[in-house]
Formats: sequence, structure tokens, C-alpha cells
Amino acid sequence: MIIPVSRIPEAGATFDGVEPGEVLRFTPADEFRAAGPVAYHLYAQVVDGVLIVRGTLDAPLKAHCARCTQMFSTSVADSGFLRDYSGIQDAEEVDITKDIREAILLNLPRFPLCDEECKGLCPRCGKNLNSGPCGCSDRTESGLWSALDNLKL
Ligand SMILES: [Zn+2]
Ligand SMILES: [Zn+2]
Repeated sequence: MIIPVSRIPEAGATFDGVEPGEVLRFTPADEFRAAGPVAYHLYAQVVDGVLIVRGTLDAPLKAHCARCTQMFSTSVADSGFLRDYSGIQDAEEVDITKDIREAILLNLPRFPLCDEECKGLCPRCGKNLNSGPCGCSDRTESGLWSALDNLKL
């Protein structure tokens, strides 16, 4: 996103719009991918030769659930985006795209869940337990306890 510094009035200016999801530069190896454009609602002002940009960002994403590995839709927002840019006296414009990307990446959940109640995968047969029990859950549990008992002995 380009801020046209030289055209910002003294009182500042609001910028509302979207950046293509590609600016987040997720790769297929990432746990996340862009699911649409990143929306921004920013206010920019030049104070004493320093460009100050603040506002909110909101990115629709798809993520792999950390428990069941299914892709699910989510969104990540930064409601406190704030950056300042000095040394802009002669600049016509300032590109803040990389800071938008950074702000979204910093707000990504470390442990994305499709649902707080996600049951995950059966450790034995790999079935997604959100779609129902797999039949080996009881045995898995008793197997776990006897393994623990053996450890104690
Ligand atoms: Zn899940
Ligand atoms: Zn199972």
C-alpha cells in the first residue's frame, strides 16, 4: 500500500481500501493462506517531518487446525496498527506494504484451532473425531493408562 505523503493535508487523511492477499506472501508450506484481500482503515498524518500511520487491518485467511489438520476459514486483525516513518521530507510516497504484512504475521495465532472444542484426530487410527467416534477411543485410553502404569513400575 502506497501512502502519497506529498498529498496528505496538514490535518491528515484517511485511507480505506484493500490490498491483494498476495502481499502476505504465504507459501504452500505455511500453515496459513490468504483467503481474500487485506482490508485497511488507516489514518496518516505528517507531524514534524515524520509520517505517522495508524489504524486497523483485517485479513481473511485459511488455516490448518493444529489439532485436526483440517483447513478452516478465519481472519486475523490488527486493531492497533501504528508505524512512523522518518526521513520522508523529499518523498512523494511511502510504501507501507511490508509493514502491513508484518503486522498481520505478528498477529497470527500460534495454535490455530478450527473450533475451541475441536476433538482432533484419533492418535491410533487418525480419524477426525469431530465427525464422530472411531471405535478405538476406549481402547486407546486404557492402553495409555496401562503404559503409564508400566512406567511407574
Ligand atoms: Zn480442528
Ligand atoms: Zn481411532
